[in-house]
Amino acid sequence: MLKEIKNNCSMTIAGLDPSGGAGLLADAKTFHSHGIYATCVVTCITAQNPFEVNSIKPLDVSLIEDEIDTILDVYPIRYIKTGMLYSREIIGLVARKISEYQLKAVVDPVMVAESGANLSNDDFVKYFNKHMVKKSFLITPNIHEASLLSEVEICDEDTMIEAALKLSCDTNIVITGGHLNGNDILCCDGEIHKIEGKLINTKNTHGTGCTYSASITSNLIKKHDIITSCKKSRQYMTNAIKQGYNYTPNQFHKK
Ligand code: PLP
Repeated sequence: MLKEIKNNCSMTIAGLDPSGGAGLLADAKTFHSHGIYATCVVTCITAQNPFEVNSIKPLDVSLIEDEIDTILDVYPIRYIKTGMLYSREIIGLVARKISEYQLKAVVDPVMVAESGANLSNDDFVKYFNKHMVKKSFLITPNIHEASLLSEVEICDEDTMIEAALKLSCDTNIVITGGHLNGNDILCCDGEIHKIEGKLINTKNTHGTGCTYSASITSNLIKKHDIITSCKKSRQYMTNAIKQGYNYTPNQFHKK
């Protein structure tokens, strides 16, 4: 069976946002728009739209493990993307699976939705820092997430760099600047790179973090290096946000 399956595929391990703006559906659309086949492992089912999250139901860890094993049994996947992991049990499982299958994981440390709703348990930061950061290939926090993970209060580019350097001891990191001045700060192999971008005055932001990290994963699968992948994905996001749809980025925008 394996022999017939092409290797330009990826896997997202994330939550389901049935409104299609964020989570697995945003990831799958992003993978497809980059020509990458998407497989989707559900961690949690949410009831939400761009304005509110009404329910969250995490799945049994044994079911999530079965989803991952059943996909990786057949698909030759190397780069994966993770999104809403929600609890310490799911963090523990995903960290273990990354090692077991020697995966390269682009990790979006999802904690809070753009609507302000909480998408993680209280002890998330502690377990994420302990178990996920060093297992990841690249983490993609926004400034709020990077502040919580690094305990550096980010208020400008200097403090973004300080947080990036602190977190980069165990992984590569790109901190997105969409909630600050628009510039992203990448720390790759211990070196800081500024990826310039302009702020866009828009409401099409629900799912931007998911879309960005899935785009980077796609570019890495296409054999671009980390710096090029982040730059290309930054440009992709600019177009996706400018041409967004119903408060979300449009993954199938015109270039
Ligand atoms: N994952 C899921 C399932 C979500 O519902 C959300 C936000 O609502 C996110 C991730 C985070 O979204 P964003 O990409 O806007 O950070």
